[in-house]
Amino acid sequence: MKLNENNDNDNIMKKIIPTIALGAIATFSANAVQDKNFNYHVDDFADIEVLRYEVPGFQDLSLQQKKMLYYLTQAGIAGRDIIWDQNGKHNLQLRHLLENIYTGYTGDRNSADFKAFEKYLKQVWFGNGIHHHYGNDKFVPGFSQEFFVAQVNALPEDKLPLAKGQTRAQMLDVLVPVIFDPTVLAKKVDLDGTKDVVVNSAGNLYGDGVTQAEVEAYYAAKKNPEDKTPVSHGLNAKVVKEDGKIVEQPYCLNGLYGPAIAKIIYWLDMAKSVAENDAQKAIITKLIDYYITGDLRTFDEYSILWAEDTKSNIDFVNGFIESYNDPLGMTGSWESYVNFKNIPSSKRTEAIAGNAQWFEDNSPVNPKFRKPSVKGVSAKVITAALLGGDAFPACAIGINLPNADWIRAAHGSKSVTLENITEAYAEAAKGNGFNEEFVIDDKTRKLLDDWLYITDMLHTDLHECLGHASGQLMPGVDPDALKEHGSTLEEARADLFALYYLADPKLQEIGVLADPEAYKAEYYKYMMNGLMTQLSRIEPGKDIEEAHMRNRQLIARYILDHGKKDKVVELVKKGGKTYVKINDYKKMRALIGQLLGEIQRIKSEGDYEAGNALVNKYAVKVDKKLHKEVLDRNSKLNIPPYRGFINPEYEVVYGENGEIKDIVIKYTENYVDQMLRLGREASFLPVE
Ligand code: ZN
Repeated sequence: MKLNENNDNDNIMKKIIPTIALGAIATFSANAVQDKNFNYHVDDFADIEVLRYEVPGFQDLSLQQKKMLYYLTQAGIAGRDIIWDQNGKHNLQLRHLLENIYTGYTGDRNSADFKAFEKYLKQVWFGNGIHHHYGNDKFVPGFSQEFFVAQVNALPEDKLPLAKGQTRAQMLDVLVPVIFDPTVLAKKVDLDGTKDVVVNSAGNLYGDGVTQAEVEAYYAAKKNPEDKTPVSHGLNAKVVKEDGKIVEQPYCLNGLYGPAIAKIIYWLDMAKSVAENDAQKAIITKLIDYYITGDLRTFDEYSILWAEDTKSNIDFVNGFIESYNDPLGMTGSWESYVNFKNIPSSKRTEAIAGNAQWFEDNSPVNPKFRKPSVKGVSAKVITAALLGGDAFPACAIGINLPNADWIRAAHGSKSVTLENITEAYAEAAKGNGFNEEFVIDDKTRKLLDDWLYITDMLHTDLHECLGHASGQLMPGVDPDALKEHGSTLEEARADLFALYYLADPKLQEIGVLADPEAYKAEYYKYMMNGLMTQLSRIEPGKDIEEAHMRNRQLIARYILDHGKKDKVVELVKKGGKTYVKINDYKKMRALIGQLLGEIQRIKSEGDYEAGNALVNKYAVKVDKKLHKEVLDRNSKLNIPPYRGFINPEYEVVYGENGEIKDIVIKYTENYVDQMLRLGREASFLPVE
């Protein structure tokens, strides 16, 4: 599971990953930035802003640790072609072709056609293919078909990325409709359940002619409902039809994507040679075994070793992990995160996790709904050193793995917060005008400037480590009793738990939050977001569908409504604009505790009727007038709705005898240069 920008926290629902922060995360760091002049902004085009992130602490690592990180970054780059091919069967060929046109173009680089071509290529790079990374729709080229065909025809023979036996004309016959015909491969993942989601999704996880019914029947026959430790079926395989029969083509050394996997294995092996400890060596050995054999049982063994290693400083993800790109939610997209532990910030999550039982015992819910004994939670804060595959350029701000339910239950999971990524988002949002537009006054803006960054982090920590893990069901209550409102109410429960404790003196006692008034920053942002600014992500005329957004409006509207008599929170007008005004933060906290008690009761007792009533009263319907106002005000700010990152460059410094003397980190590339370099250095799969 991954958690994206804007406090969306984990997301169990496959199809909804709210990514966009807009200004909602226009938070400001009070500390921790190393270089005050660090330049976060890299590029912007279409609906995208590209940023870079800093890797504070890299230079202070030992040479051995730097080497290990370096080798892992190479392993994290080596699989890049895999995600391109998983996202669509023409993506690799198209990327080579577009890049060759781009670098070889001799005409006017300021012409409208070329500018549009460049924008399209930047979008394709960002999407790891021809579809939008979040919306899944195919990009619409702004250049003409004539322009494109002329450029292809102008390329010398050796610059044509032809498949075996293919001619230039044949390649054009294939690629022209892929780029220009909106009905061809229209959507990467199409979840419209009234149609065949396998046939209608343009991704390359299923072969031609394979239907949803066939895939479902194939895996139904493989699954054993009695198996208490089931493998993640389909996680590392493409399902194709051979001679009319459904078969799997596993992703492994001698299978699909073998040439790229061979490179990954090479670099993993190098990393193993400089591992910090035996646990790490065992983890890498298992992962290599899995890449060689494709055996999902081995992957589970690896996942257990990985989840249980909480001691190592350097850590990484490299494999077929998240299944959001599969309309059936089985096949993992190839991704990589390379990171090391942020030791000072991890003290924060360790302090919270270490007091889990205290938080549980003191929560404002009926004691019979509390957990008598909270299971250990592993949580740490990390510094990302490389984003790869499906996690590049758009990435998560938090990850909670492994995904297999039985492993999570039996061996626990690791929950990590990518602090330098969150920080880059926050720093880059400085001065975007969002807080100036939506926050009521200077005093409140100052409050947010000073404290929102840390309270936002703590909110996420409390939500993830404790909120979801708290509470218990009464005997015999069906965990799915809340049906379609289950996710909304579950997110509300975790958010309320976090909000309630943000204002608790316990946080000063355990040393994770200095100022007892700091919580007000998060309270203000939460109300502003829940009542107003999150509406900027809703299209005019629509209601709220997504669970996290419903949860936020539910909480905010409940507090507004139940605090009306005492004017705890108000929506006020100033100069014709609406603002959130909080008059009594203490009473607001009491209302948070009250709602937490009620939602925990609903969950513990499986009271669907009460949950349904709460959601329908507060969470779904949008105030149309206010919605329009928010959209109007937001559109004037010109904040790109989607953001992602390029990676820093790592450079090996060799000594006189060819030994590695140092690894240095640089932040000099721009977006185009980095993408072209990756195209040159990390192209390991043939064009089919
Ligand atoms: Zn959550």
